[in-house]
Amino acid sequence: MPDFCFAPQPQPSVGIANSTDRFPVRRIFCVGRNYAAHARELGNDDREPPFFFTKPADAVIDDCGPVPYPPLTNNLHHEIELVVAVGEGGANIAAGEALKHVWGYGVGVDLTRRDLQDEAKKMARPWDWSKGFDNSAVCSALIAADKAGNPDSGRIWLSVNGVERQSGDLADMIWPVADIIAFCSQSMTLQKGDLIYTGTPAGVSELKVGDHVTGGVEGMGTIDFTVSGGAS
Ligand code: MN
Repeated sequence: MPDFCFAPQPQPSVGIANSTDRFPVRRIFCVGRNYAAHARELGNDDREPPFFFTKPADAVIDDCGPVPYPPLTNNLHHEIELVVAVGEGGANIAAGEALKHVWGYGVGVDLTRRDLQDEAKKMARPWDWSKGFDNSAVCSALIAADKAGNPDSGRIWLSVNGVERQSGDLADMIWPVADIIAFCSQSMTLQKGDLIYTGTPAGVSELKVGDHVTGGVEGMGTIDFTVSGGAS
C-alpha cells in the first residue's frame, strides 16, 4: 500500500438483507428508457440497443435513513428501478451466461433533477449534472440471487405519501436483465461490486421535502425513505 497524502474516503457500500455484511460498490451503471409503453409485436424485434449513463459510486445511499433534497433543482423526480448487483466480472458476457454474474438484486430509486436533464437534452449536453449528484442512487438492502425472485417478471411499484405513482412489471422491460448485462459488458469490463439500475416504468413525478417514498419489486425487496431538507 502506498502512503496516501490523506486517508482515502470510505468504500461506498449498500446493505445486505438479513446480514451485517455490506456490498462494496464499485461503479453505478443506469439504463435509460427501458420499459415498453406498448407490447412489442411478437417476432418483430425493432428495439434500439439500450443506452447507459453512470452515477459516482459514492452517490449510493441506503434507504433506511433520510435522503436529502439536492441543490440546483426545482423538479426532483423519482424513478423506481430493479437494481442488479454484479458478483462476478467479465467482458463480452453472453446473455445466456449473464445471470451467473449476478450477486443479487435490490430496489433502487434513480433520483433525477428533471429540470437540469430537460435542459441538457435541449442543449445536447451530458446528463451527469441531472443524474450523478450526491445521494442520487437510493438503494435497498440487497437480496442474494439464490434467495431473490425472478428478474424477468414481477410487479414494480412506487408510492409517495401512500399514493401510488409508478406501477409496472419487469416483464415490460424492453431489454431484460441478462441482455443489459451482456450489452454493458461489451462496452466496459464489468467488475464485482458494480450496480446496474435497470430503468423505470411510467409514472415518474416530482418529490418535495418531507415526502415519504415507498416502493418495491416483487421478490426483490422494498424501499422506504423520506426526503429531508438538504443543501439548497
Ligand atoms: Mn432511471
